[in-house]
Amino acid sequence: MRTPLIAGNWKMNLDHLQAIALVQKLAWTLQDSGHDPKAVEVAVFPPFTDLRSVQTLIAAERFELALGAQDLSPYESGAYTGDVSGAFLKALAAAYVIVGHSERRAMHGETDEIVNAKALAALKHDLVPVVCVGETAEDLERHGSSAVPVAQVRTALLGVPDDADVVVAYEPVWAIGSGRAATPDTAQEVCAALRAAIAEDHGQAFADRTRLLYGGSVKSGNIASFMHRPDVDGALVGGASLDPGEFAAIARFPKHVSID
Ligand code: PEP
Repeated sequence: MRTPLIAGNWKMNLDHLQAIALVQKLAWTLQDSGHDPKAVEVAVFPPFTDLRSVQTLIAAERFELALGAQDLSPYESGAYTGDVSGAFLKALAAAYVIVGHSERRAMHGETDEIVNAKALAALKHDLVPVVCVGETAEDLERHGSSAVPVAQVRTALLGVPDDADVVVAYEPVWAIGSGRAATPDTAQEVCAALRAAIAEDHGQAFADRTRLLYGGSVKSGNIASFMHRPDVDGALVGGASLDPGEFAAIARFPKHVSID
């Protein structure tokens, strides 16, 4: 069984007080709507400065929410001003960390090799990397939708042990924040290609248990069409995760896949 994952990437939004208010509202809305955390896992990815407050709240209130960070350093510790080690994230009870988001690739020059180093650093600290891959509009025109994300995932997962737990998010760059989501058919086609490449490189069992998310302008109105596709196991949600009612509505679409 792959448990669906609905992940909210807040990006550089909400200070620690606003974060507390959002998480409280989100948890209550999920509880009120009868959310079953065993059927759908919900995770939030606040900015670094909010992690401690959010973690304390989740622990104190026993909210059924997983915590993730938006990035990590490939290094352990030392003279890396502004960077954050996976060890520090683990100490804050983070379960996940996003690596290779297209905004970091575009604005911070993150290459596939850096993304790979970050994914390995995450696993070293027992954090599940949420590896983001996706084609730009230009890539789409030149190579179609699957070639670039498949090449990215192959490099990002180099050297990852075959018993590792990773999540891969297919996020077409042109769909992020544009209000123009990929079609569910395209999401399915690319996720199937990603799973086939992962199976080739890491074995069928690894590919079968790896959750593949779709990301790019996901909303409560279109989530069901993605979740009904066999290779889409959840969503990475940006803008809509800042609205607790909308994000909770997105999480109300359970799907179970048997891999037996
Ligand atoms: C993202 O940035 O990961 C994302 C999917 O953003 P949005 O949902 O706003 O398109």
